[in-house]
Amino acid sequence: MFEYQAPANFLQDRVVLVTGAGDGIGKAAAKAYARHGATVILLGRTTSKLEKVYDEIESEGGSQPAIIPLNLETATAHDYEEVATMIDREFGKLDGLLHNASLLGRMGPLFQYDPDTWQQVMQVNVHAEFLMTRALLPLLRAAPSASVIFTSSGVGNKGRAHWGAYSVSKFATEGLMQVLADEEDGLSNVRSNAINPGGTRTNMRALAYPGEDPDTLKTPEDIIPVYLYLMGDDSREVNGQRFNAQ
Ligand code: NDP
Repeated sequence: MFEYQAPANFLQDRVVLVTGAGDGIGKAAAKAYARHGATVILLGRTTSKLEKVYDEIESEGGSQPAIIPLNLETATAHDYEEVATMIDREFGKLDGLLHNASLLGRMGPLFQYDPDTWQQVMQVNVHAEFLMTRALLPLLRAAPSASVIFTSSGVGNKGRAHWGAYSVSKFATEGLMQVLADEEDGLSNVRSNAINPGGTRTNMRALAYPGEDPDTLKTPEDIIPVYLYLMGDDSREVNGQRFNAQ
């Protein structure tokens, strides 16, 4: 496991956006950031789930979060510009961005892979990340120390049979992270890194491994230390790297 003891309130006065914040790892990360002082912007497609996370953060005494309902499958470049405008208007800044939302798609061999599912997975897992990063970069560049975290996978740097578009999308995510890291290096205070969560007890994992006993897996809360490390200033000099949460 990645070991890191986050200082109390080390994200005080920081504004952090988390995609896919309504469930699984994104939910755990959003709550952990709020617990350490951040104002968290919860973005996702199911408003009722985002509202639940909102309430949980408030009841734990965290600073009031914001909710942005957005379906990454259908959102256009214009929608991401609107997200940036809204964040600028409401908060005046953005210090961190966790690209966490993803779709698994269907497991199966490439020759049987449904082309529409391929498009859908690439749209949510790759194109949406590009469009969102592009729109939010001016705000991130204006922050004194900004962190962009991408989410990879065990199949994101070594292909595996039957993982189809999901595996390819995670290779692309790592590529996007590396290109961004290299471009911003020396130009701004924006750093970019990727996390491979490893097998974690969520809906997506259960879809991919239906026969597995979930109790044998780490929970989203267990793997949060690396998410905290990369969001705070202790990782200020770290750029273009891939981390294993477990
Ligand atoms: P979950 O399926 O539990 O959560 C994914 C989140 O992404 C959900 O909140 C979901 O929203 C959201 N999301 C999916 N599609 C869209 C969309 N079109 N628009 C907006 N939001 C969307 O997955 P995990 O928590 O397991 O996964 C989190 C990240 O970790 C992913 O990037 C995944 O690839 C990666 N990962 C996970 C591993 C694991 O073992 N769990 C292992 C390796 C990598 P909704 O709740 O509405 O469905």
